[in-house]
Formats: sequence, C-alpha cells, structure tokens
Amino acid sequence: MLLRLRPATTDADREVLRRVARERGYEVSLLGRDGRVIELVRRSGVPHPGDRVAFEDLSFVAGVLEAADAPELSERAPGREDTILRVGEAAFGGPFISLIAGPCAVEDGPRLLEIARAVRAAGATLLRGGAFKPRSSPYAFQGLGQAGLELLAEARAATDLGIVTEVLDPRDVEAVAKVADVLQIGARSMANYALLAEAAQSGKALLLKRGMMATAREFLLAAEHVLAQGNERVLLCERGVRGFDRATRNVLDVGTVAHLKRATHLPVIVDPSHAAGRAELVLPLSKAGLAAGADGLMIEVHPQPNEARSDAAQAVSTAVFAEIAVAAAALARLDRRHLVTCKDVCEPVASAGEGVRA
Ligand code: PEP
Ligand code: MN
Repeated sequence: MLLRLRPATTDADREVLRRVARERGYEVSLLGRDGRVIELVRRSGVPHPGDRVAFEDLSFVAGVLEAADAPELSERAPGREDTILRVGEAAFGGPFISLIAGPCAVEDGPRLLEIARAVRAAGATLLRGGAFKPRSSPYAFQGLGQAGLELLAEARAATDLGIVTEVLDPRDVEAVAKVADVLQIGARSMANYALLAEAAQSGKALLLKRGMMATAREFLLAAEHVLAQGNERVLLCERGVRGFDRATRNVLDVGTVAHLKRATHLPVIVDPSHAAGRAELVLPLSKAGLAAGADGLMIEVHPQPNEARSDAAQAVSTAVFAEIAVAAAALARLDRRHLVTCKDVCEPVASAGEGVRA
C-alpha cells in the first residue's frame, strides 16, 4: 500500500505511523527525497479490509495512493468481475440491466395494481412504492405505513413482481422485510449506520441511495457497513446530488456512476426521477444513466401524474415508462448487455427483438 503524507508531518507522526503499521503487520519504508511517500509492505498477520481506513484516519496522512492488500469489501480488486444481484426476475450487473418502477408512495390498492400491471407489461421486473415516506415537511403525506405494506404484498401476489420499498426506522425493518424483496435505504438515511446494520441483518437485498451531499467514497463506505455485516446483496443508487441550480431538482452525477462502475464490483443503478424532479427530463436522464454504465433504473410512474400524492412533478405516465423501457433495451444492446424483463408479458420490449431473459 502507498500513502502520501502531509507536508507538515513531523518525526513524531512518522513514529505513530510505524507503530500503527507494526500493529497491523506492515513494515514502513520512506520513498522519495522528502520522505512523504510511504510504502507499507505486509510482513505478518492477516490482511484486513479495515487496514486502509486505519491509515487514512491518521491526521497527517493526505491520502492512500494505492490500495491495501486486503481490499475493502466493496472495492473492485484488479480483474474482479461485476457482482450480479438477482432478485426475483430482476438481475443487475454484468450483462444484465433491470428496471424498477412504481409510484413514489403507495396510495391505494386499485391504483397500485394498475401501475404494477402496466410497468410489468412494459418491461419492469420490480415494483417500487413507499409505505414509509421520508418527507422533508412533517405536514406532507407520510405514506400509509403498515397499510401500505399490505397493499404492496397484495400487488406482489397479483403480479409476481418483487417489491422495493423504503425502511426509515430500524424498528420497522422486520415488518418491511416481511413484504419487501429489496429494502430501500433513502438518500436521507444513507449515513444512518444503525439502520444500515439492522437492514443488512434482515438478509434482504438493499437498495442504497447516495446521500444528497455524499462523496463517492462516503457512499461506498455506507455500502461497506452493509457488507461488513455479511450481507453482500447491495444495489447502489445514484439519485442526484445537491447543486446550485434550481432548473433540476438535483444534479444527476453520471461521472460518479462511471467512476463507481470501476471502483466497486457492486451493481449501480440510476434514479432519474429524483435527479430531474420534472417528468419531461426522466427519459433523457434515463438514457444518460445507462450510457454511463448503470446496471438499471428506478423510475417513479403514476397513471395520472398530476394526482400523485408525493413527487407528482417528476412522475411519468405508464406510456412514457414504456418508452423508457424501449430506450433501455436499445441502449443495453448497444453495450452488449440485456434488459431483463418478466417471462410472459414483455411484448412492448420483446416484440422489438430487444428483450432478453436472464
Ligand atoms: C424515493 O425513492 O421516493 C425517495 C424518497 O428517494 P430519495 O431517498 O432519493 O429522496
Ligand atoms: Mn419520490
């Protein structure tokens, strides 16, 4: 492992570095004339994924130039293939792209079922919908809670679509995990490490959204909290970060999508809905996300977008979702990947010769 030290590093700091290195089984050599580049070579003990942060945490270490010999669990070691996450009919990573679609919030049974059937027919393999909603205002619709979970269970039984739904509170993990195939950890909760640990222990797949102010490294370390619990079923989701411009709700960070695809073996998807905040931008941002290498999309869909009880401005109609699915299939093919769709009802995509089953 190679470290770079800050210019003000003292001899006493170097002694601290030697001690920490010794404790973790490394020997230290100073490289370069100013002794600010350090090579650490393992001499004894067992490599640990925590080695990197142990050195990164030292105040006089400016950065890690080259990875530790025990990569962090989310890290893509040289030559490591994509981890493919399979949930129900969906597959994310490697050659597979999948679509998650549904309303921002579960509103009522008939509407949820209508959306589920429409998005399944268009090419989605997972149904999303919040029962517990993280609303910025305490006076806004907070979701139907347990009743919403029951409606999701009914939609699952009627359509066979796997369910993605958010869990906000560690105390709700058990109830949400009874219904969900994928537990969503929202942007506001990305750094709630107690929630991440509890959700990870459910054994369910986790869809982890990037915090709106989180760096790529902080995002990956949040995923590391899940992996460190022994749960490897993590789907990273870029949903836009805070910018200065109100033209879009957030800034879809496609650069970070491309970066993450190289930095980690975990699958990465894009949520263009929360990035755009405006329905008419969801199709172009979907294309941008997939072109940057995303392994899937999560899209907010509503049959009457202007009636949606939350995030109405960004909800696309079922017809627009079908267009997005056709574009996703075409972009997948361009990259020699496949859009995975449900086995028996994928006419809009399959009839174009583009839908491929995993
Ligand atoms: C959502 O998916 O409806 C949601 C609340 O997203 P985010 O956590 O990205 O704001
Ligand atoms: Mn929403």
